[in-house]
Amino acid sequence: MKKNKCIFLDRDGTINVYKCLLHESEDFELLPRVSEAIRLINKSDFMCIVVSNQPVVARNLCSLEDVWKINDNMKELLAGEGAYLDDVFICPHHPDSGYLGENKQYKIKCNCRKPDIGMIEKAAQKYNLDLSKSYIIGDTTIDIQTGKNCGMKTVLLKTGLAGSDKKYDVCSDYNAETLVQAVKIILEIDE
Ligand SMILES: [Zn+2]
Repeated sequence: MKKNKCIFLDRDGTINVYKCLLHESEDFELLPRVSEAIRLINKSDFMCIVVSNQPVVARNLCSLEDVWKINDNMKELLAGEGAYLDDVFICPHHPDSGYLGENKQYKIKCNCRKPDIGMIEKAAQKYNLDLSKSYIIGDTTIDIQTGKNCGMKTVLLKTGLAGSDKKYDVCSDYNAETLVQAVKIILEIDE
């Protein structure tokens, strides 16, 4: 059976305006032309899947349910503009425990927090993905390192943190000003 290919998207700073530790739907604001970018993916041979670290759960700023409400709100906003996500995966964990008020259940060293590749592997299995033909687009070096860790090509955006997190000393395969530009770059090389 022929394998599928996918463009993985980070969420905060890539799809929506970056706000530190966003945990309320009211604060969720789509970046300009994001729905246009996702519509382009929907029309192509690529699937479109979001992979997002959400340590807000482990920090107890909100519940896991609240994060899924924010994600549902995101899907609704996008669908209202004709753009569809094939799936959304989140990591609710955080490795550093010992803080006041934390949600201990999620304060663990997991294998899904990017740049670990648990979410990507789960998606690859669920949708029979060929990761060597897939891409990840994000605004941090964490996203780029995630792509490197599983053999995907990577695009770093100038939106959100624009790579300023500098957590990993990595170089992306491509750079783009916006998500729509990143998707156009991928679809052009992929022809
Ligand atoms: Zn995790």
